[in-house]
Amino acid sequence: MEKNYPKALVVDRRDLTQDLMILTLKPETLFPFAPGQYCTFMKDGIKRPYSIASAPHEGFLEFFIELVPHGALTPKLWELKIGDTIEMLFNRGKGVFLFEPALHNQVMVCTVTGVAPFVSMIRMLGGSTGHKFYVFQGASYCDEFGYDTELANTKSVTYVSTVSRPQDSRNAAWQGETKRVNERIEEFLMRFKLLPENTMIYACGNSGMIKDVTQRLEPRGYRVRAEEFF
Ligand SMILES: Cc1cc2nc3c(=O)[nH]c(=O)nc-3n(C[C@H](O)[C@H](O)[C@H](O)COP(=O)(O)OP(=O)(O)OC[C@H]3O[C@@H](n4cnc5c(N)ncnc54)[C@H](O)[C@@H]3O)c2cc1C
Repeated sequence: MEKNYPKALVVDRRDLTQDLMILTLKPETLFPFAPGQYCTFMKDGIKRPYSIASAPHEGFLEFFIELVPHGALTPKLWELKIGDTIEMLFNRGKGVFLFEPALHNQVMVCTVTGVAPFVSMIRMLGGSTGHKFYVFQGASYCDEFGYDTELANTKSVTYVSTVSRPQDSRNAAWQGETKRVNERIEEFLMRFKLLPENTMIYACGNSGMIKDVTQRLEPRGYRVRAEEFF
């Protein structure tokens, strides 16, 4: 007998670029999750986890997803339209990439879609806990940040974005920071006087960035918590 998995309805879809979208889902039954957790999507037997970008109180699930052109699942996700449904493996959030309240400064380092769990944490906690949030986001192109306006306009957040391909014509209008976010991390920490004794570091996104950030910061005494997407 086929198992009935929880379903969620696509209620919104915003395509930022050809290969980045923000997908909003309404699950059949709203389920508990903590900011930083993920859901597992399932289609034609293929299962992949996606970090939730919305906050638990919002009543919907939002995801920031990148198309991997030759990937097994994301090309199928790109066919989704408003009104379609998608199956999920569980009706609860999973994972242990969670907010650590002990330290005052919360530094969130990410590449592109790796910002998703931080958006959830900030929507839930920003401004209400007394913590200061710093989001340092890297991308190849300046149209890939997704939540830059929201984060830059959130009072308790200092948002810095950097592009790694400043010479590319897609970045012609870019006047902000350049280079990979991991290559700039020590400088950003110094700029805002973020010391190991009162600063929690989170890193989320591609494994190369996470490895480099960890290798640069742990020997200096920073606590680093990571979620690797690929
Ligand atoms: C805890 C967790 C949370 C995640 N959250 C998100 C999220 O919020 N948004 C999101 O887009 N992805 C997220 N991912 C990655 C996601 O689960 C899939 O791996 C990704 O969407 C690719 O799936 P696919 O089946 O299309 O490609 P696959 O067939 O699984 O992969 C094909 C190849 O592409 C590589 N690859 C996977 N992702 C990328 C990428 N983004 N860029 C370049 N190469 C890649 C894989 O390593 C593999 O070599 C998360 C992963 C984990 C473990």
